[in-house]
Amino acid sequence: ETLYRINGWGEPYFSINEAGHVTVSPKGDRGGCIDLFELVNDLKQRGLRLPILLRFSDILADRIERLNSTFAKAIARYNYNGVYRGVFPVKVNQQRQLVEEIAKFGKPFQFGLEAGSKPELLIALSTLRTPGSLLICNGYKDAEYIETAILARKLGQDTIIVIEQLEEVEMIIRAATKLGVTPAVGVRAKLHAKGVGHWEDSTGDRAKFGLSMWEILETVEQLESANMLDSLRLLHFHIGSQISNISTIKDALREAGQIYVQLAALGAPMGNLDVGGGLGVDYDGSKTNFYASKNYSMQNYAYDIVAAIKDACAEKGVPVPTLTSESGRAIASHQSVLVFDVVGISGIPNQAIEPLKEEEHLIVRNLFEALENINENNYQEIYHDAVQFNQEAISLFSFGYLTLKQRARVERLFWECCDRILKVTRKLNYVPDDLEDLERAMALTYYCNFSVFQSAPDSWAIDQLFPIMPIHRLNEEPICRGTIADLTCDSDGKIDRFIDLRDVKSTLELHSFIHEEPYYLALFLGGAYQEILGDLHNLFGDTDAVHIHATPTGYKVEHVIKGDSMTEVLEYVQYNRDAMLENIRQETERALQEKQITLDEARLFLQKYEHCLNGYTYLS
Ligand code: PLP
Repeated sequence: ETLYRINGWGEPYFSINEAGHVTVSPKGDRGGCIDLFELVNDLKQRGLRLPILLRFSDILADRIERLNSTFAKAIARYNYNGVYRGVFPVKVNQQRQLVEEIAKFGKPFQFGLEAGSKPELLIALSTLRTPGSLLICNGYKDAEYIETAILARKLGQDTIIVIEQLEEVEMIIRAATKLGVTPAVGVRAKLHAKGVGHWEDSTGDRAKFGLSMWEILETVEQLESANMLDSLRLLHFHIGSQISNISTIKDALREAGQIYVQLAALGAPMGNLDVGGGLGVDYDGSKTNFYASKNYSMQNYAYDIVAAIKDACAEKGVPVPTLTSESGRAIASHQSVLVFDVVGISGIPNQAIEPLKEEEHLIVRNLFEALENINENNYQEIYHDAVQFNQEAISLFSFGYLTLKQRARVERLFWECCDRILKVTRKLNYVPDDLEDLERAMALTYYCNFSVFQSAPDSWAIDQLFPIMPIHRLNEEPICRGTIADLTCDSDGKIDRFIDLRDVKSTLELHSFIHEEPYYLALFLGGAYQEILGDLHNLFGDTDAVHIHATPTGYKVEHVIKGDSMTEVLEYVQYNRDAMLENIRQETERALQEKQITLDEARLFLQKYEHCLNGYTYLS
């Protein structure tokens, strides 16, 4: 097993080189390798700052190509008489440069976009210029959304309005009649088959979106009475994101395949089946049905879709549809890497212990004896003894029988015993239950220059696991165990759940932190959802972001997107920079008048204040 399980989740993009640095192979196994630590140092020399979000455009291109080629392979294997036309759900990451790159890299595959709201529809319409690609229109809709989507067909955009609520049928009929343009519509079915985990409520009878079987029939009838059944071209379902178990997908496909052929039997032209999102990402590299993993490959996924739909259609003699998936996570996660630096550390102090002096308290002597005798055979017994001595010391102190110095000495000796016991247990395969929490209790806190709320909100909100590791010093044994605390003044601003084999562990193996020496960590696979869900808690803004493109001799910095300045984040909460500066100027003037401050100090203070307003919200 590799360090930090990087081979599991990192393949084929991330690895470790001989210098002990993480490397990025943006084109997967097709050559070209960038040293991440050197890249970060280069970017710093270009004036960029940590934390920094690196987007590897070639990884994005590779993900799109992989998804399309796996479907092409499945279509060939099953002699499927149709094509795959994927779409990227814009909500997963709306950043302009990224959406534009997706449209560009997707062109050879007629890869389209999915919009889930009016602003996303505007993005999709202004970006997509690929004849033959689909523009799937999902989400809540008003007349303006629907009319815009219908009129876009006149420009040659293949917009398909997916009916998610029954009321939309009437709205579509009205808009089409008013505009005199024939729309293309789809229906989103509420399947009985359900995903499991965080997103299981995305489907099933109580799902927020989609039509029940009765509502689907009602839709068909309403379209028929309006003479518009010809417009019904697509069936869509979405059973939740990050489906870990392939059997859930198989169940959904069986159900959806039947709905599709039945709709065709009712006289709808159909022609498209959109299986939604759900294609998982293996965050822990275990290749299992654990929620942070998935027990199938992209290829299995494509095989199962193609085979199931081919069978359903063959049985009823219905022509097979064009297949669409709305894979967001699987396309966007890998391309981004967030690098941040450790700014400090706290935890159990690690100073040398003064030797035992004559006439020290009995508890101190007992702890010394315990400490000297710890070995593989007695560590559990000694642990319990040490806990008891420590408890006794706390009681004696509370009743005034122990001095603060004595209590501090006991505390120090107790932690030293725990530390030695931990070192013994780490060498053993088996750790008794009563010692499992010790690792957590003894963990150091690594204070890091980033905000969990801004850069990894799902880690806070839904306990999502992301691989996190140092990007250098990987030739050196990580002898410390730590948790991560961010810059926010919020006790939730931390990460203390890390990937393990099919499990979650509460501490991460890290290196000792040396003051003033850089120690860089990175959070991987966060390219989906995190950027847009991130918030301004404590007013930590967007980080700097760069697009890196691999070249034959190294890399090129394609785009630099500067993070928020303090002035920008303050504007979100309605503060005006000039008004703030004027307030401060007036205050310094008052202090000058009252001779509380010198002219030099006043000038310096104003300069600092103004400089901060222009600066980064993170630590410099
Ligand atoms: N399509 C719809 C309708 C969704 O709600 C989602 C996300 O939940 C997606 C597509 C993208 O899913 P994923 O990121 O799992 O591919």
